[in-house]
Order: sequence, then structure tokens, then C-alpha cells
Amino acid sequence: MKSLLRQIPQISKVVEIFAKAYPEIYVVKAAREVAEKYRKEIIEGARADLNGFLEDVERKIKSLMKPNIKRVINATGVVINTNLGRAPLSKDVINFISEIANGYSNLEYNLEEGKRGSRIAHIEKYLNELTGAESSFVVNNNAGAVFLVLNTLAEGKEVIISRGELVEIGGSFRIPDIMKKSGAILREVGTTNKTKVSDYEGAINQNTALLMKVHKSNFYMEGFVEEVKLEDLVKLGHKYGIPTYYDAGSGLLINLKEFGISVDEPNFRDCISLGIDLVSGSGDKLLGGPQAGIIVGKKNLIEKIKKNPIARALRIDKLTLSGLEMTLKLYFEKRYEDIPVIRMLTQDEKALRQKAKRLEKLLKDIPGLKISVIKDKAKPGGGSLPELELPTYCVAIRHDRLSSQELSRRLRLAEPPIVCRIREDQLLFDMRTVFHEDLKTIKKTLQELLSI
Ligand SMILES: *Cc1c(COP(=O)(O)O)cnc(C)c1O
Repeated sequence: MKSLLRQIPQISKVVEIFAKAYPEIYVVKAAREVAEKYRKEIIEGARADLNGFLEDVERKIKSLMKPNIKRVINATGVVINTNLGRAPLSKDVINFISEIANGYSNLEYNLEEGKRGSRIAHIEKYLNELTGAESSFVVNNNAGAVFLVLNTLAEGKEVIISRGELVEIGGSFRIPDIMKKSGAILREVGTTNKTKVSDYEGAINQNTALLMKVHKSNFYMEGFVEEVKLEDLVKLGHKYGIPTYYDAGSGLLINLKEFGISVDEPNFRDCISLGIDLVSGSGDKLLGGPQAGIIVGKKNLIEKIKKNPIARALRIDKLTLSGLEMTLKLYFEKRYEDIPVIRMLTQDEKALRQKAKRLEKLLKDIPGLKISVIKDKAKPGGGSLPELELPTYCVAIRHDRLSSQELSRRLRLAEPPIVCRIREDQLLFDMRTVFHEDLKTIKKTLQELLSI
């Protein structure tokens, strides 16, 4: 054993061997890790020779050299999948981001006047036109938008909100916590399942700064429930001269019903036309753009928000801003088909079935696989449209040796990783979120996985 341990190649030797082919930093790291692994295995009696050492080092080097963030094939069918990076962007948007990233831009420079300009000005006119709002502002994400609105309008003052809407969005974003950090005082009213206008009215006092409503983005309640309608909140706000704020969550800019999706998901325009003073939403949920927090509403309130020094700490960066401008431009030109999120959500059953059939055909020659196309019902909204269930088509596979758990694990660790749904002993590839160009990659990956 001792002599075998001594034969493990020195790091410097390994570096010499691979120095031409790979950057030294990776070679050293890989050599250390593999040597350590071999040493341990030899001591434990699990290894009797050094066969495959250099191959293992090279494999390790290659894996260390890959960036950590990878493109993933999303076969879960969940369009707004926070774990998988939410909204994929349109080609036009990506090209534009790349163009702006590639050089200098007029980000904060007014070319006409030759002096300092505002980064928000580039997108404000789109947002105002698309939502019908007087004014708008954008920050890094919607959590930041909520914080900024509360801090600007209600620091040291009370914000009335329904107990049923003190929600957790995920990743430790909880409305009561964000409110505390913003300096606003939470005044919760109503009960978990029922809140009435009179509950809000009863809590109004000298120190009330804001009437707030939060969209229940990731769950829904059924049964003996009642919530305050936006229009009733607006009426109450007007009666007492207190601003109203709705955190709409999803950042929807269209009416989903016009696209054949019958769900009551509020969009910015509807909220503004009901008279809500401020509405906020995400850029990368149903809006289908880059991550951003969009705030639209009354000019005097937005002006205050813009002037809050914290706005600078939540500032949107130029790549996001250019991506957002191009996304909004697509809406402006009504090019909804070019917005992947909208396209995926509104795919018709026929197109989904055709895609599934194509994948089925591609996979049929892979040995050991049992393949079928199944019609399924799935929730494509992730944390955005909790009630929405749509029919979809999946390719279901089963392997004669590997469990679906094991197959799913291998697919996750493949290059590119593929994330599927598991149901009982089947692995489902939901066609809603799989792009046409991914189909061949799925075939190639499965072929490789199953040949070893
Ligand atoms: C998603 C969501 C947020 C957080 O938005 P991010 O853009 O993820 O920061 C806040 N409020 C509601 C209602 C949401 O749905």
C-alpha cells in the first residue's frame, strides 16, 4: 500500500503533462483533487492500482473548466420557473443587450442636449403607454419595488393590509418582513380567509399612510373566502385621501383572456384604470422580460419614489434596462409571438402534440426505452398563475433497467442538463417549455447516457 501511495504522480508531473492543453490553475486543482481521492481509496483498501489516474484528472479538468451557470433544457412544463431562471428572452432582446454591452451607450446621457440624462427615461414612455399610467419607475426586481414603495410612502407610518395577503413569495421574501425592514408599520386586518372593506376602514387612523393589497401569486383559496376588490379599495382610499398600492406580482401587460387563457390574472392596465395609485410587478414573470421591478402609477407618488436615496441602491443595470426596453418595444408593436413566455403559454394543443410526436419519433430507436405520447394537465404558471391548469402533451419514457429517479438524475447531470417531471415510474418531457431546437439535443443526450 505504501509503495502504491508513493507512486501517485506528483502535482508538478501532472502539470507538465497537461500544461499545453489546459490552463494551469485547473490542472493543479484537478490533480490535487484526484490524487486525494486515490490516496483515500488506497488507504481504505478500495483501490489496488493507479489505472485511469490521468484520465480522471483530465475529466476533472474539463468539468472544472465549465462555467457554473449553464443553459438547461426545461422539460417541466413550468413556464415561469424561478429555479430555472424564469423568462427566456426573445432573440431581438438578446441581440440588443449584446449590442449595448459591446460598447458605450447613452445610458445616462441626453444626446440632444449634450448633458446628463436619466436611464429611466428610455423606457418610461413605453411603460406609460402600455399601462395607461401617468408615470413609471423601474428597479432591480419586484421585491426591491415593494420595499421602495413602502419605505418612500410609509416609513414610520401604518400600512393596512389583509391578513390573507401576508404572503411568502419564496426565497424568504415575506411581506411582513419586508415591511418591517422598510420602516413601515404593518396593520393587518381581517382574517385568513375573509377580509372586508369595513375591516380596512375600521383600521384607518391619523397615522395611516397606505392601503395595500398583494396578489396571491403562488396559491389560491377556495370555499368560504372573501377579499377586498381593487375598486372598493380605491373608493376607500379616495374617501380618506390615502393612497392605494397593489403588488400585482406577475407584471402582466396583456389580457390573457384575449389569448384564450381564461384566468383572472390582473394586468397593469386594468389596475391603473380601476384607479389604483401605484402598481408593481416583476419584469421576468408573465411580462417575459429580464429581471426587474416595475412601478407604475400617479406622478406625484412616483416622483417621491424616484427621489428616495434607496432607489440608487436598487438601481436597474444597463443590460437589464436595454433588455427591458426591447421587450416593451415588442409589446408596443404587438409582436407577442416573439415573446417566449407568451408564446409558450398560448401554444395550442395541436402544436404541442406535434412537438411530442416529433420527439417520440426521434427517441424510438434508443434501446431499452419505452416511449409514449400522453395528454396531460399541467400548471404552467409556477409561482405566477396558481389556478391555471392547461392541457399539454408530454413524451413519457420508461427504461427497462433504470428507475425514473435514476434516469432523471442522469439527465440533470448531463450536458446540457435536462430537467423533467417524474410521475410514478415514468419520466415526462412536457412539450410546453421544450423548444424545437432542443428535441435533437434530448435525443443525443439520452443516447449518450444510455450507451454507458
Ligand atoms: C414574485 C413576486 C414578488 C417578488 O418579485 P421578484 O421580481 O421576484 O423580486 C413580490 N410580490 C409578488 C406578489 C410576487 O408574485
